[in-house]
Amino acid sequence: MRLQFPSGVAGAGSRTRRPDPGPVGQPRGFLEKKMAILRLRHAVRTLFEVPAALRRLSRACSTFHAFTDVLRLPKRQMTKLVFPLQELERQLTPDSRLDLHVKIFDPSLEDISKAEAVFTATSRNRISYLSSAVRLDHAPDLPSPEVCFIGRSNVGKSSLIKALFSLAPEVEVRVSKKPGHTKKMNFFKVGKYFTLVDMPGYGYRAPEDFVDMVETYLKERRNLMRTFLLVDSVVGIQKTDSIAIEMCEEFALPYVMVLTKIDKSSKGHLLKQVLQIQKFVDKETQGCFPQLFPVSSVTYSGIHLLRCFIANITGNLKTDGL
Ligand code: GDP
Repeated sequence: MRLQFPSGVAGAGSRTRRPDPGPVGQPRGFLEKKMAILRLRHAVRTLFEVPAALRRLSRACSTFHAFTDVLRLPKRQMTKLVFPLQELERQLTPDSRLDLHVKIFDPSLEDISKAEAVFTATSRNRISYLSSAVRLDHAPDLPSPEVCFIGRSNVGKSSLIKALFSLAPEVEVRVSKKPGHTKKMNFFKVGKYFTLVDMPGYGYRAPEDFVDMVETYLKERRNLMRTFLLVDSVVGIQKTDSIAIEMCEEFALPYVMVLTKIDKSSKGHLLKQVLQIQKFVDKETQGCFPQLFPVSSVTYSGIHLLRCFIANITGNLKTDGL
């Protein structure tokens, strides 16, 4: 890696400067060198400050995998972490609050706590990667309910699945991003509760057989209970997302829109995007669940609620909220 020094640091034009006499008793070259060293130290310190701050944030957030830790937070902070949509709604004027559907799925904290057992690996609840398939007829034939995650490459799908499985740290979420690398559907068994399928990321250059694979799976998988369609909250619905939305609509699938990376935007930008997507869901879709699920795999915001929703729609948890 090449270090970029601020201008004035040794090597950035100092050799062309005419030497002027330094303070009495200090040879000019000595002072220049000393200053350069100080500037260099400052540059290096600045270079490492940002990653260190990110590491601190990630260490702080890593304690929020488990809901028991979340429950210890002050109320306002906990609400923000568990119900990010409610936090966004607070910024709206009373009359425009109806624009967001924040409480269609509104489980109690107790329900969210219970859902955690479904996602926690124990000797009686084995959570593991099962197999991969490039064609539907290679997919495991399991009787348990299934949910699948789809989204364009880089939307944050692997990170989200890792966050959902953070209470089963031995689960390996496989990523095959190299261009030309075979893209597969990856199946994860969550004990006796359900199967989670990580579908290959799509993009403009998705080959035909890939589209066939996704289409065939979505159309024909009998035990598929819900499709989770991921949209990057920073950029909103893109052209490729629309293709996936159209596919879900055409096959009359029940699907849910999950908005990823909500920690990346300012509150104002996020609210704008969320309202735009909500409007789209209300006006242009039939099969999409009306409530959006904003999440961050970095801060764990929205992750516990999403776990609870999955436990609910796979028939593993009855909640008061739905
Ligand atoms: P995938 O291609 O959809 O599986 O996307 P990844 O999970 O690999 O994420 C793509 C990039 O987005 C990576 O650099 C991740 O670190 C980053 N990313 C994913 N989720 C989040 C998130 O919630 N917040 C932030 N800040 N970055 C994220």
